[in-house]
Parts: sequence; C-alpha cells; structure tokens
Amino acid sequence: MRHLLSIEDLDRAAIERICDRAASFSEVAEREIKKVPALRGRTVLNLFYEASTRTRSSFELAAKRLSADVVNFAVSGSSVEKGESLKDTVLTLGAHRPDAIVIRTPWAGAAALVTHWTDAAIVNAGDGKHEHPTQALLDVHTLRRRLGGIDGADIWIVGDVLHSRVARSNILAFQTMGAKVTVCGPPTLIPRGIEALGCDVRYDLGELSQADVVYALRMQHERMDQAWVPSLREYAALFQVNGRRLHPRQVLMHPGPVNRGVELSGEVVDSPQALIAQQVEAGVVVRMAVLYEVLAGARAGGPTDDAGPPRDRASHPAGVA
Ligand code: ASP
Repeated sequence: MRHLLSIEDLDRAAIERICDRAASFSEVAEREIKKVPALRGRTVLNLFYEASTRTRSSFELAAKRLSADVVNFAVSGSSVEKGESLKDTVLTLGAHRPDAIVIRTPWAGAAALVTHWTDAAIVNAGDGKHEHPTQALLDVHTLRRRLGGIDGADIWIVGDVLHSRVARSNILAFQTMGAKVTVCGPPTLIPRGIEALGCDVRYDLGELSQADVVYALRMQHERMDQAWVPSLREYAALFQVNGRRLHPRQVLMHPGPVNRGVELSGEVVDSPQALIAQQVEAGVVVRMAVLYEVLAGARAGGPTDDAGPPRDRASHPAGVA
C-alpha cells in the first residue's frame, strides 16, 4: 500500500491484514519501554489544518512507538496564517524529506491532491466531509475485538451523517467486513442518495432495538452554513441515544469528540456498553499498522527500499525489538 487515502482502496483482506497487524502491535503498549525499531530513521510529518485531539496525538504516538522521527506541523503559528497555500506548504515541508505525511484538512480530496506534490506516502487523517479511513479501521478493529467479528452485525450510524467523513468511511468499511449498515437521522442530515452506498436509511429511532451496534455522530457545526435542525433541544429529543433508547445488549460507539447531552446522554457515555475509550486505544495500534504498511510493508522489495529498515526486520513488526 503506497498511500492510505480512502477506505475504498482497501478490500476485506487488506482491512483484516491491517487489523491483525494492529493486534500484534498491542503487545508493544504493554511493555515498559513502548517502542520497536520498525521505522527507525524514517520521518513522519503530521500536517493538521483542522482541530484534532485523538487523531493527531495517536498518529504521533504511533510513529514514536515505531521509532520514527516525528514533526508536528500545526497551521496556527505557521506561514499558512500569512497566506501560504497548501501546495507551497507541502513543497516547503517536502524539503525536510518526510517519508510519510499524515494530513488533515477541511477540503475534500486534498489528501489525494498532495500525492502529486511529494514522494512521501500520504495518509488521510480526514479531508473535509469526504473520508477518515483510519477512524474506520480503528472502529473495525475495536468491533472485531469486542464482537469477535463483524460479519452479519447490524450497525446503526445515528446523527449528522451529511457532514460526517466518519460516516462515509465507516459505511464502506463495515459493509466490506460483512455488516449490515443503517444510517439514521433527520432528513436534513441524511445525504440524498446515500442508499447507493448499500446502506438502509431510517428517519427515526423507532427500530433502533434491532441494532447490535449503535454508532453515534456529533453535530458537525463547523461544516454547517445554516441551521439544519430547528434546535439542538429538539434534535436531542428525537435522536439522542440515551439510557431509555440503548438496549443492554447493544454496544455504543462514537468517534469523539462527544457533545454530552446532545447526541449522547452522559449516562450512556459512562456506561460499560460504551466502547469510546477502546476506540481511542485502538487508534494508536491501528495507526502504527497503517504507518508500518505505507512505509515498510508496500515498499519492501521496491526501488525505495534501499533507504528503509532491513527487510527481515521490517516484515516482523511485533517481533522486531
Ligand atoms: N473526530 C472525527 C472527525 O474528525 C469526528 C468528529 O469530529 O465529530 O471527523
């Protein structure tokens, strides 16, 4: 795998390979010294044009646990504030010769565009409302661990589907892994024609009890240019996942950040049914697996491998230390 731009680029075998590798990296987190030399001498550049808590910190930790050098570039305080374009920023930072660029922007398609301006492997950490492939991978990993597998699971994605890159990536990933996906929210927040992705659509929570997994989404105000629901109070009355609506056999997921009292009630966030902390934990090992895949996996044997770690070390990620 040269880049990770979209979940559409991955078939079931590739998703399973990444999740299996992530599982093998879990052991590193248990060690006293949480590091393996798999990407020693490689440079990972985190280029974030949008706010991030979980994604940026877990990519940084993932790269460091693989012994890569990490440069964190935040737009605030950079020359972007002086008007430097994405292209010029990438070309400038390219002079540092990064091996991988992890990029988050508010613009759909930006991660793919950047591949034309650098030789580095590009990992899409969220491009506008288009895709967030590593979120989908960590969610698949979390569910595989919790449910043993996803085949046949009934997964409901509830909330602001229209503005959510997570929804798009997760619908594709969950279905590729054999799940049945239903999206649910007010008609204004469900994209027209989304059934074309293969999912069902519901405009109320009446049949939520049929779900095995309830995946709640945040209201993405930063991508709204108008009021899409009459009020948050009314939205919460109709679509909030709370103790009354969540059945004890169901598991609850959310990509974060959670707006307590809006899409989720505090009681369900804090309940043992919530896998939110496990999702964050999975974020580190899954991103280790993705960085490993783009920097060591795909290139092993390729022309750029000369600059990489010894091939036998690179092919045994968990056993390298
Ligand atoms: N953290 C996720 C994202 O970056 C979800 C969210 O922001 O609501 O898309």
